[in-house]
Amino acid sequence: MRIAYLGLGIMGRPMAANLVKAGHEVSVWNRSARQHVDGARTAVSPADAAIDADVVWTCVADTAAVERVLFAEDGAEKSLREGAIVVDSSTISPSATLRFAERVNALGVHWVDAPVTGSKIGAENAQLIFIVGGASEPVDYLQPLFKAMGKLVIHMGDTGKGQSAKICMNLMIALIYEGFAEAFTLSQKLGVEPHKLIELIQASMVRSGVVDYKAPFVLRRDYSPNFPLRLMHKDIHLMLDTAKENRVKLPALETVDEIYELSSEEGWDDLDFAATLALLEKWAGLGGQPK
Ligand code: NAP
Repeated sequence: MRIAYLGLGIMGRPMAANLVKAGHEVSVWNRSARQHVDGARTAVSPADAAIDADVVWTCVADTAAVERVLFAEDGAEKSLREGAIVVDSSTISPSATLRFAERVNALGVHWVDAPVTGSKIGAENAQLIFIVGGASEPVDYLQPLFKAMGKLVIHMGDTGKGQSAKICMNLMIALIYEGFAEAFTLSQKLGVEPHKLIELIQASMVRSGVVDYKAPFVLRRDYSPNFPLRLMHKDIHLMLDTAKENRVKLPALETVDEIYELSSEEGWDDLDFAATLALLEKWAGLGGQPK
């Protein structure tokens, strides 16, 4: 297939590389020109990348970035041909997704929202899980591409349901990690050996994939970005805004948002979201300045 891949960040770059590896004809574009993917054509604009594409795949930071790569003056929309599919693997607003889908649908183009989970390691190892919203026909057509980049596709329902499910899932990740970070901080003050605490957590009913993934990094206080704090903070705002649109109250998340706000003020936006632990450690007098 001919694929235009827009956005070569932590996730997009390995995803595009895996499409090339699977034998597809790939054109890539990234806002800052420093990124490229071996075996792919580097385009000068999203519109250039999308020329003759069967599929335009986006994986950029946020809702505004998706709007920019698709609908700006040099956006991919300019080159979309009837029957093409736009797939969005960014995590963005479910309500904006419906607006964007409507706009491309008017051109005879399908929209599939396909945010992912699995983080940097999952993207590099083609082990992502795609959380998909859209009509069955384009979703079926995309299966070989999902397979090239991931291990599982869960079709959540029609357009927007992928993004809706994704932000609900990330809501749990933010709260589970905060629960872990608070327990980890208190346990240190009580003199519990950190490796032992993790052994207990993972052997018991509180076992968590989030802790599986983050604990080795936390034990080394390695906060190099797998999922940057600024992106989880962006997702928390998506959750709170979407909750407001739907008259839902999320009191625990509102509190966690403040932790992210303060971590951001510390200048930790580009560290992994695991660095929010450092704030709790700082308040507890346990050091806590990330390296
Ligand atoms: P990232 O490393 O920060 O990359 C973001 C990408 O978006 C870069 O290519 C960046 O271009 C581009 N971008 C940002 N603003 C833009 C704009 N206004 N116009 C055009 N391009 C813009 O982020 P990532 O980790 O790859 O995440 C990408 C998406 O996947 C996000 O929505 C994130 O929430 C989601 N996600 C991430 C993870 C994870 O663990 N990292 C997991 C699941 C989902 P530049 O290079 O020019 O800055």
